[in-house]
Amino acid sequence: MSGKKIDVSLLKSKGFLPQRQENMFSMRLKVVSGNLDAKKLRAIADAAEKYGSGYIHITSRQQIEIPFVKLEDTEAARNELEKQGISAGSAGKRVRAVVACQGNRVCRNGLIDCENLACKIDEKYFGEAVPKKLKIAVTGCPSACVRPQENDFGIMGNVKPEILGENCVGCKLCEKACKVGAIKVLEDKAFINTKKCILCGACIAACRKDALRAGKIGCTIFVGGKAGLQPMQGIKLLELADEEQVFSVLEKTFEYYRREGLDGERLGDLLERMGMEKYRKEVLS
Ligand code: SF4
Ligand code: SF4
Ligand code: SF4
Repeated sequence: MSGKKIDVSLLKSKGFLPQRQENMFSMRLKVVSGNLDAKKLRAIADAAEKYGSGYIHITSRQQIEIPFVKLEDTEAARNELEKQGISAGSAGKRVRAVVACQGNRVCRNGLIDCENLACKIDEKYFGEAVPKKLKIAVTGCPSACVRPQENDFGIMGNVKPEILGENCVGCKLCEKACKVGAIKVLEDKAFINTKKCILCGACIAACRKDALRAGKIGCTIFVGGKAGLQPMQGIKLLELADEEQVFSVLEKTFEYYRREGLDGERLGDLLERMGMEKYRKEVLS
């Protein structure tokens, strides 16, 4: 080594994470909602061959990393990829890139446009400073493929089913489709137990007689979730929120977290320390 002091936090802010191998860095690149076009993928593959050791790591949060970039190559690698519209990922005490499933653009179960929402959130909050780190996930339906409950701020698409009783023929297709036993057919008519219903819309898709239709479509919001050494399950804050409500709660959550959060404290730990009610009152006001 040259003996020159390495500014690790500066490198981290540019997306370079120190490896266990001396003088080597894993270059983290920003991927929003898990989508990259083929042109960008080619540019990343070229950079991995030129500056790394020819392979790419895909992280558990849909991000791309190019390991084994030498310290002296970090600036060149970064500049080259930035020219292709590929920016550095986030690390340290900042908001991470938003993860998302394909939602209703591709998935047959999708209830919301996850990519659109993820991109809007990312545009507003990516890389913002916070007391620890803030992870956001957008998932298209209650199957919860990107695990919104394990994120500091999780968003999940849902739909309220509505029964048009006059069309119902009592065929029970909806009953079979419902995985949580929330819809039952009694005397040839379907009834929904709203306490059991998880707002997934499977019954609507199953009905062949237009006896079930989509009412309000919106988002469930979970807050305070995290994985890791001390995992926490996100708490359900709202159901069937529209986009305006999602952004209002998100903005107020940022204000609350920045104001009340201790240095190094995750949102879930803050909510536990201060109590959920104070937070709930503030963000839902
Ligand atoms: S969460 Fe729902 S919409 Fe998203 S990929 Fe899974 S099944 Fe599809
Ligand atoms: S699938 Fe439709 S028609 Fe059949 S029981 Fe359910 S609501 Fe009625
Ligand atoms: S929306 Fe989902 S949970 Fe609710 S009744 Fe229909 S299938 Fe069951």
